[in-house]
Amino acid sequence: MLIASINPATGETIKTFAPLSEAQLDEKLQHAAETFATYRRTSLAERERRLQSAAEILETEKHDFARLMTIEMGKPIKGAVGEVEKCAWVCRYYAETAKQHLADQLVQTDAARSFVRFQPLGPVLAVMPWNFPFWQVFRFAAPALMAGNVGLLKHASNVPQCAVAIEDIFRRAGFPTGAFQTLLVGSEVVQRILEDRRVAAATLTGSEPAGRSVAGIAGKLIKKTVLELGGSDPFIVMPSAEMDAAVSTAVKARTINNGQSCIAAKRFIVADQIYDEFERRFVETMKALRVGDPLKESTDIGPLATEQILKDVDEQVKTSVAAGAHLLTGGKKINGPGNFYEPTVLASIASGSPAYCEEVFGPVALLFRVMNIDDAIQLANATTFGLGAAAWTKDASEQERFVDEIEAGCVFINGMVASDPRLPFGGIKHSGYGRELGEFGIREFVNIKTVWVK
Ligand code: NAP
Repeated sequence: MLIASINPATGETIKTFAPLSEAQLDEKLQHAAETFATYRRTSLAERERRLQSAAEILETEKHDFARLMTIEMGKPIKGAVGEVEKCAWVCRYYAETAKQHLADQLVQTDAARSFVRFQPLGPVLAVMPWNFPFWQVFRFAAPALMAGNVGLLKHASNVPQCAVAIEDIFRRAGFPTGAFQTLLVGSEVVQRILEDRRVAAATLTGSEPAGRSVAGIAGKLIKKTVLELGGSDPFIVMPSAEMDAAVSTAVKARTINNGQSCIAAKRFIVADQIYDEFERRFVETMKALRVGDPLKESTDIGPLATEQILKDVDEQVKTSVAAGAHLLTGGKKINGPGNFYEPTVLASIASGSPAYCEEVFGPVALLFRVMNIDDAIQLANATTFGLGAAAWTKDASEQERFVDEIEAGCVFINGMVASDPRLPFGGIKHSGYGRELGEFGIREFVNIKTVWVK
């Protein structure tokens, strides 16, 4: 795949990059291994200072980094600025909490002294997606670097300028150059990197096929992996829900990042008693969204990140409509340059159609009517994915059932699913395994070493 920045709002190729040669790649892997040998001995205080400095750079230059993301993958600029601020937050969070997450844990046994120590594993390969080009990387890098690992970033081929900028942030923050390196390579080189004895582990955020491939290779090599894959999150609305907030949050949850978020609400499961009102208000709000230049503050929805994604979304919608789905609004590409797609709502979706079974990565909402809470939970769980779920109800017993019975890595009640540096994030089923963020995130790439002293 071509490593290139192509502005999805205009189709203009801004910059192309030559992939690393085998010799250049080897040099970077060696640099990572050598840096790890010394970096792992740096004090937590020193790592903390550098990570705080990275946060400062992010905060100071947030508008430049936001613009870079918007130009490379089309996210509306207001969301891009928020993304950079969140990266600074995760750096500060881990800078401040790593000492408590990684402190020796005493355990009472029959030994004179026994405890658990958390030690770094080595160079960790991070295969990352384009949809949150900064956030996805920082939420891996901040805990990995605090734990004493070093990072190797293979970013998505359509966000190379972001990838280079992130490496530069860590270098300017004072990390040794080998502590975080960007590898400009295509996905076909990932196997070669994984097989390299100097690479200790890998994390991948992306699609299910990419996750299967990386986990398959790493499994044979017995290397630890974390997988953050796709989702088809349900957003359930019960009769007692606060309707105004439920509708506006539902639209936001579906269309954030132009609809290209793993934790976007994708299936809206609404109780029969309130379905008609919800549908009418949801469609009205979707129609009112401003689609256009993502660099404008007033834009709600920019272009899809690549021409291929635009084609895929259009195909999924057309095939689902041909299979019987009702098109309530949208349903086609917007004429003119750029990968713009109309905010779309489908209802009465046939099981077996693409919209029913697959993840739709664009501003396309799917509405489902259910007769009771049992049906709502059954439909919410009728997917191979299990990333997140939102449920809206004021009824405490319904809330408890959703918390207990929904098969997902997180359940948000009366809100929309969102990541937070303080809370673990990750999925079950085909959405992946392992966790990022919070205390659990920093413990993924460490040797949990038991020490027993008599
Ligand atoms: P993708 O095609 O899987 O790409 C993600 C990364 O994997 C890119 O760096 C890509 O490199 C690489 N890659 C692709 N195929 C590979 C393979 N066979 N072996 C090794 N590496 C491979 O996914 P995407 O379209 O960029 O991202 C969208 C997907 O990511 C959606 O399914 C979304 O739900 C998921 N996602 C999940 C989370 C989460 O936290 N769970 C967060 C964000 C996104 P190239 O670009 O060079 O192909």
